Amino acid sequence: RDRALAQARARARAAAGTPPVTLTATIMRPSQAAELRAAGAHGIGLLATELLFLGHEQDLTDENQHYRAYREIARAVEDAPVTLRTLDIGGDKDMPALNLPREANPFLGMRGLRLSLRRPDLFLPQLRAAYRAARDDGARLRLMFPMVTRVEEFTQAAQTAREVQAELAAPHLPLGVMVEVPACALAADQFIEHVDFLSIGTNDLAQYLLATSRTNPALAHDINPLHVAVTRTVRSVAKTGSAGGVAVSACGALAGDPVGAVVLAALGVTALTVALPHLPDVRDALCRADASSLRTIRDHALDTGGSRHLRGLVTTLLDL
Ligand code: PEP
Ligand code: MG
Repeated sequence: RDRALAQARARARAAAGTPPVTLTATIMRPSQAAELRAAGAHGIGLLATELLFLGHEQDLTDENQHYRAYREIARAVEDAPVTLRTLDIGGDKDMPALNLPREANPFLGMRGLRLSLRRPDLFLPQLRAAYRAARDDGARLRLMFPMVTRVEEFTQAAQTAREVQAELAAPHLPLGVMVEVPACALAADQFIEHVDFLSIGTNDLAQYLLATSRTNPALAHDINPLHVAVTRTVRSVAKTGSAGGVAVSACGALAGDPVGAVVLAALGVTALTVALPHLPDVRDALCRADASSLRTIRDHALDTGGSRHLRGLVTTLLDL
């Protein structure tokens, strides 16, 4: 056993700088876009558009504000792709200026795409600005919809996007869905008939699978994104995507944790979106994982040995 471990460690150290999955970045501010290349990220995997407007919520309905922001970011990353997530308001992302009605269960309520579909005054300026940036500037944008539960929500949003595209004589933009609601994960085969890509939002997926609030500090230990219910769900979505030829990436805090990133890669996601400051450590951990260690890690991640054991195994195997 010691010899096998020593060999695995030697392989880990020898693995040269190519991670087994594509790395993209999450950015919070346009000024970070220029740092992307130096960090070795292939574009922006998650541009949380609501964050661009924090403190300027009154501008959310202003198409030109969106247009300027998207153009600035697309230019800063040069020709790298930018996945623009349409407004994910609601739940933990409150926008007081919108005066949305209070509700008893905000995380189960008017969140993300549910709100966008009911509020064309918020949705259309975003879509129009994105297609204009692609048309006028050649911005390589992809549109991703958050908090999608039913396939009809996606098809309705996609129909609206295509209408905007036609009206503006703009190029096609890939359209995708964040897999963060268990219903979406369990029915991923329905979605892959319609979407261009999927991205697993591990923060919300863990919250909803474990029925544990992501915002209550007293429950921080209970919301474990390496729980076997989460890893099995990720594996299932990755397999469904792979069978249907649809790329499945993952984002959220788990992707920014070196151990979590390796587990996600082992489970079969093909790209990870990581917050810029975490990219170097995540890249280093991923580069240590060869095909054989990834198989071992996948088997343990899907087994019931528990996340503490899994974390220990990854750390030892990759000499982290
Ligand atoms: C997620 O849910 O994992 C995610 C990336 O989105 P957010 O944390 O912004 O909800
Ligand atoms: Mg989310």
